[in-house]
Amino acid sequence: MNRFEDYCTKFVQSIGNKEGAISPSIVSSASFAYKDPETAEGIFNGSIKKPLYSRMGNPTTAKLESILAEMDGGIGAVATSSGMGATTLAVTSLVSQGDEIISIGGLFGGTYSLFNETLRRFGITTHFFDVDDLDNINNAINDKTKIIFLESVGNPNMRLPDIKKIAAIADTKGVALLVDNTITPLSISPLALGADITIYSTTKIISGNSSALGGCVVFRAINEKDDKFKTKRYSFLEKFMKGAGEMALIPNAKKRALRDFGMSANAHASYQTMLGLETLALRLPRIVKNIEIIVKELAKNSLHVNHPSLESHPHHRRYKENFQFGCGTLFTIDMQTKEKAYDFLRKTKLATITANIGDTRTLALHMASTIYSDFDESTRKFLGITDGLIRISVGLENPQEIINDFLKAAK
Ligand SMILES: *Cc1c(COP(=O)(O)O)cnc(C)c1O
Repeated sequence: MNRFEDYCTKFVQSIGNKEGAISPSIVSSASFAYKDPETAEGIFNGSIKKPLYSRMGNPTTAKLESILAEMDGGIGAVATSSGMGATTLAVTSLVSQGDEIISIGGLFGGTYSLFNETLRRFGITTHFFDVDDLDNINNAINDKTKIIFLESVGNPNMRLPDIKKIAAIADTKGVALLVDNTITPLSISPLALGADITIYSTTKIISGNSSALGGCVVFRAINEKDDKFKTKRYSFLEKFMKGAGEMALIPNAKKRALRDFGMSANAHASYQTMLGLETLALRLPRIVKNIEIIVKELAKNSLHVNHPSLESHPHHRRYKENFQFGCGTLFTIDMQTKEKAYDFLRKTKLATITANIGDTRTLALHMASTIYSDFDESTRKFLGITDGLIRISVGLENPQEIINDFLKAAK
């Protein structure tokens, strides 16, 4: 049984209750009352497992967290208010002023500016590399490096990293590997491939219908014996290991990021995210199948499409070998000029023009004039943003109807 089949069962069974209200309950309370002062003390020191205050955790959100942790084979998870909140939580829980980050691959715009502008203001330096630039990545790692960060699929450059190979480098050097798996939940299991932390924007394919903004970070367990997190590089984790043992990355994230930055998920969004999650394992394979049909046909009709399922793509072999369950909902069309790209977007009847991805509907956006409009030319070149580039996120529609619509729009 593949993971999609497996999770068709698991998600619906774990989200619905077997007694009373079937739909998960929304605990819409910002704060929680403690029975007596001793209980309050116990909740604050962690010896009593009850809700403290919704910024630090909420029962509805906790249900979502446990399901996503299980999905990725993690020991626990922290849900956040957005995908950027998730990246910020994961990263700031591990870095201090003077530290360095290695960022690999084409990057989501917000992540790129977080690394290149915002964290730089706080004295944290990021070095950027292409997915196949392994020698330079190896050489760039030093004592100050705390994080190797990559996206499971370059958005929007569609380049695929060899996650296992990069995880091996991270392990040899003793540096944490963080994978933004927003585009490929279920299809790719970063922790099983050697990553330490996975990051999601649940806003995208996990919710799947543009109904809720959210994010989540999944953490692996700390090993009982040797572990890179037990070295000098991560000495700040020691105090959390004393209390939480193998779960140390979770109080570390809560106390060093969530508590003070407050990127906490809200119960209503967590509830809606779970409703979406129930059908993730049905929707994603349908979209993966759609994409392969669509890009093949559009390429045959001489459109400049970029997707690793095409034989012409430099990572086609990697796609076949390491991405058997597809690489998510995205592909790009390069219309060569901004004018032609705009013309396509005006003419398409099916695609919704929006910055979102991973929806039940097909979505499209011109890259250079929107998400990447703030970026200078050399950055755009590095990220693969050309003047005519349109990013498409394929939905559940009939693939032939999408093909017909796009061929008309491209005329
Ligand atoms: C959308 C997205 C994010 C940010 O998520 P938000 O929920 O919009 O904050 C991060 N990474 C990737 C790959 C994304 O597509």
